[in-house]
Amino acid sequence: MRERRGPRIVDHGPTPSPYGDQLESHLADIERLRVRASQLLAKHGLSIDEYAAIFSAQHGRCAVCKNHETSTFRGKRRNLTVDKDAEGRVRGLLCDACHKRIRSFEDEQALLDWTERALGYLR
Ligand SMILES: [Zn+2]
Repeated sequence: MRERRGPRIVDHGPTPSPYGDQLESHLADIERLRVRASQLLAKHGLSIDEYAAIFSAQHGRCAVCKNHETSTFRGKRRNLTVDKDAEGRVRGLLCDACHKRIRSFEDEQALLDWTERALGYLR
């Protein structure tokens, strides 16, 4: 009786990593993404895909000033902040500066009143 042979497997040893010496950096990126996804879901009810869709629709820019985020935290550029209305619905993504300004007003009327007074002061 002839012995049945399967595919011949030749062991060439471990394959070289496509990451080279950057593996630790890639793993750190993956961990940051995992943490970010977890935070988005817990804090805003957004999946990472939903955040990415909004980010893409805004071309990676703040919904108000239309600039890219420039502020940093611990040496890394911040992500655009998820802005929500009083009912918790996501309005868009804002840079840190615009998010702080908008949050400093109680509501739209307070913002309009302040803007009117500021324009009157400047004229
Ligand atoms: Zn902005």
